[in-house]
Amino acid sequence: RDKTWLVHLARIETDGSVLMTFEDLTATEEAGAMRRDFVANVSHELRTPLTALIGFIETLRGAAKNDPAAQARFLEIMECEAARMNRLVEDLMSLNRVEATERMRPSEIVDLAGVVRSVANALEPLAKERGMTVVRDTFDEAVKIPGDADQLAQVFTNLIENALKYSGQGQTVSLRLERVDNHPMTRGPAAVVSVSDTGAGFDPALIPRLTERFYRVDSHRSRELGGTGLGLAIVKHIVNRHRGRLRIESTPGQGAVFTVILPAEIAQ
Ligand code: ADP
Repeated sequence: RDKTWLVHLARIETDGSVLMTFEDLTATEEAGAMRRDFVANVSHELRTPLTALIGFIETLRGAAKNDPAAQARFLEIMECEAARMNRLVEDLMSLNRVEATERMRPSEIVDLAGVVRSVANALEPLAKERGMTVVRDTFDEAVKIPGDADQLAQVFTNLIENALKYSGQGQTVSLRLERVDNHPMTRGPAAVVSVSDTGAGFDPALIPRLTERFYRVDSHRSRELGGTGLGLAIVKHIVNRHRGRLRIESTPGQGAVFTVILPAEIAQ
């Protein structure tokens, strides 16, 4: 990888030799480039619905001024675009919050089974709307872990919503929750939660990119389904905060499995 160096000329000695120091600016440059990319992405994501809103306002004032049917149709589209902007702002705020708390180890004891169960119940209407069912496979009701209940609820909301979004009519999303006494990842007790779907899945080569902000396998599909491209980035930060691991697997055409492995013991 290319490096960026800042060279300081510190001193010229009387014998003509020169003392120079080198400062490695690679990390600073990379952070700057990431920030610029992020701002460009956010601006682009906000501009698309804004342009649509401005266009429709003009139409409502002009061409559709005396056409109530067109007005109703346009207002409905405007509502969708405003909702899209709202989702984006909410996800950006979540991302900010989870980044700000990433170094703070959560210590509250959370009833993980209760969290997953209530998220699944809350998403029941969305499942119904898409003609799908959410089932609980192996589900250990007694799993408790140190964590942040709201953030963990957000993890499973994002994963189950994705499973529902990227699958379709008649398909099933399966939830598993198990406590493992000695997990190689945590070198101790762990809670292992998986969300599996039977949808389109994705090429496993893309897995490392899925948790990047604004990365989507199919941008058009994600936008159509109301995605912001930030869901898995938020999941990754929350799992990191819990010192856990997110495992992603998929067989294209057959579905995907997202597994969250969380330490189940309070850190000393
Ligand atoms: P989005 O808001 O676009 O859903 P995410 O960060 O939640 O953003 O996910 C990033 C991308 O990963 C999605 O756009 C989609 O391409 C892919 N993806 C996530 N979950 C699934 C899934 N269960 N099945 C297939 N593709 C998925």
